[in-house]
Amino acid sequence: QQEQVTSGVAGLNVSPADPGDVETSKAEASLLTKILRTKLVDNSNDVEVQQNDPTSPLYSARSFEELNLHPNLLKGIYSMKFNKPSKIQEKALPLLLADPPQNLIAQSQSGTGKTAAFVLAMLTRVDTSKPYPQILCLSPTFDLAQQTGKVLQQMAQYSPEIKMTYAVRGSRTFQRGQNDKVTEHILIGTAGTVLDWAVKFRVFDPKLINMFVLDEADVMIDTQGQQDQTIRLHKQLRRDCQHVLFSATYNEEVMTFAKKIISEPNIIHLKRSEESLDNIKQYYVWCSAAGDEGKFAALTNLYGVLTIGQCIVFCHTRKSAAWLAGKMNKEGHAVALLTGQSTVEQRIAVLDRFREGKERLLITTNLCARGIDIDQVTLVVNYDIPMDVHHKPDCETYLHRIGRTGRFGKSGLAVNFVDGRKSYDSLMFIQNHFKREIQKLDADDPDEIE
Ligand code: ADP
Repeated sequence: QQEQVTSGVAGLNVSPADPGDVETSKAEASLLTKILRTKLVDNSNDVEVQQNDPTSPLYSARSFEELNLHPNLLKGIYSMKFNKPSKIQEKALPLLLADPPQNLIAQSQSGTGKTAAFVLAMLTRVDTSKPYPQILCLSPTFDLAQQTGKVLQQMAQYSPEIKMTYAVRGSRTFQRGQNDKVTEHILIGTAGTVLDWAVKFRVFDPKLINMFVLDEADVMIDTQGQQDQTIRLHKQLRRDCQHVLFSATYNEEVMTFAKKIISEPNIIHLKRSEESLDNIKQYYVWCSAAGDEGKFAALTNLYGVLTIGQCIVFCHTRKSAAWLAGKMNKEGHAVALLTGQSTVEQRIAVLDRFREGKERLLITTNLCARGIDIDQVTLVVNYDIPMDVHHKPDCETYLHRIGRTGRFGKSGLAVNFVDGRKSYDSLMFIQNHFKREIQKLDADDPDEIE
């Protein structure tokens, strides 16, 4: 009999009978990651720079002061608690702000400071004495455009004379032939709407755009039609308009697209910092009974013997996740539940509450194994050992769930639930893959793990 889960669980809108996860789209995943991220990611790799003109000197900006920014922009940056440029910003900012303008293709994983870099450059390039769009920034979706807009508003909080507007479906309506004009200096939007504004309604003149920013190019090229729209838009721009493109991933397809749009580019590239299992103590618990009941007992047992700060439990199906959330809630735990069935807004709300510590136990499916980086999480539990679509142990997902990035990443604790031969063999496969011991946890002797 399926337990009916009711109130008390944050994020619960899940039908317990509905197993499996919905694959989150790239744009959605990117949005969640952005919203979750509150600081720069650690990255110990070096930035590679390929200059368009290898004979010109290559600057690195070690401080924001040396960039000759307007004092009000500097004030904005400091109010966001940025002390010094991130790795990617050190190299990107001098190129973005160079005179004459330089084209740029920049790739680095999410959370390395790309958005902050190009937003700062956009704000710097505005001439407020001219009441028309001079800067154009394209994002793959409305939500992502809004995230960029929010960063811009923060950074420009002491520069009220700089105006920005969103060019996304429904943000403004124009009539053809009415001679309406957009007076804001910066347009942030999606390709289709921006193209309409430029070509169909002619509410701004693309020839007056001095800087063209393509954000999340890797997400964009995955979305039907956006590549073509972007190329059409690009053809409307002046040749000497500064063109810059950002991407979180680096592959053939992105680079081919990038080079179609960005002529004579400088290319900067920061290798992603891989998660590692160094500093992670890994254990497994042999559950007293197979299946959900045995695993539930193992989890309550852990809570009985360990001092657990915040904990994330990964389940294979929504059904188990919802069931477990209900059970733990009845035990008196404040539980947050996150599965693929909730809307983006709901997920954000759940994660915000968890980050604030309103719930200290997060039960989830694979949904955001990669996206979650909540500092205060002290324990990760694999309620189910991760398996891929071919029913093989999924080492990559295991690493994303419990791994930490950066050499100085904090230590962590991971506990795997084993309830039979199959899960044991799967876990040993993972252990052999990473060549890191996963010790058996003796719940009667918790001293050894603390
Ligand atoms: P990306 O666009 O590469 O995903 P963001 O520009 O969104 O990265 O930056 C990631 C996080 O780091 C954001 O929370 C942002 O506010 C913060 N951040 C960006 N640049 C700096 C900096 N120089 N110093 C401190 N924090 C920064």
